[in-house]
Amino acid sequence: MTPAPHIRFDVLTIFPGMFTGPLDESIMMRARTQGLIDVQLHDLRDWAHDRHRTVDDYPFGGGAGMVMKPEPLFEAVEAIREMVPEPATVILMSPQGRRLDRALVDELAALPRLLLICGRYEGVDQRVVEHAVDLEVSIGDVVVSGGELPAMLLIDAVSRRIPGVLGSEASLLEESFDDGLLEYPQYTRPPVFRDWEAPPILLSGNHPEVAKWRRRQQLLRTRARRPDLLAAADLTPQERRWLDEQPVEGE
Ligand code: SAH
Repeated sequence: MTPAPHIRFDVLTIFPGMFTGPLDESIMMRARTQGLIDVQLHDLRDWAHDRHRTVDDYPFGGGAGMVMKPEPLFEAVEAIREMVPEPATVILMSPQGRRLDRALVDELAALPRLLLICGRYEGVDQRVVEHAVDLEVSIGDVVVSGGELPAMLLIDAVSRRIPGVLGSEASLLEESFDDGLLEYPQYTRPPVFRDWEAPPILLSGNHPEVAKWRRRQQLLRTRARRPDLLAAADLTPQERRWLDEQPVEGE
């Protein structure tokens, strides 16, 4: 038997309790029980040096807020690295990092082990960024209160790319961004709900026509909502021509 594909996440945080809900339900829980992903939480305060378990201090140069001290972070990263032989890529969750997108998620899913550092306060001492961190990752151009939610988002997105984590491989194949386009709109029963009809083509049983309709919806949607994606997407010349002929409004 070939061993199950596997990725290990180590999370360094002062709030390990935040992770219990999201990782204990549904797809993440199943992936963990099946051994497809492994998530280890580490409390940064275990590497603090004083009895108050201090991990932050005042910023040099003054200003509001606190900064995470370098000593506990360095010692924790070094200790966690040594816990298993797999080499860890150290990622700092940071609004200043590389934006998490499909391409980055796929790069990360190919690695054996990610060590995620969750910042708090005003962030971490710059020497941590420069000497302990391989990559900074941002979940978007917005600031949240800590790296925990961004780390959970990363774990979820990366885990979905591990073969076997999604129940059906087919649902993995037809998601937004798979072919550089947004997904087509979805409908389920009833066919008519409060006078609003689901597109009859979807109930026709004509699979080639359904596929054509869906592809065209993808093209229209992506043009309307994410022209940046459309520019890079892999369209046939016929599809480009068809799209050029479609009115831009009403999408
Ligand atoms: N003062 C910092 C923000 C600190 S927010 C700055 O302006 O850059 C506190 C922590 O939350 C950060 O250290 C980081 O770990 C996390 N965080 C906040 N926004 C984030 C984002 N968009 N992506 C990833 N992590 C984020």
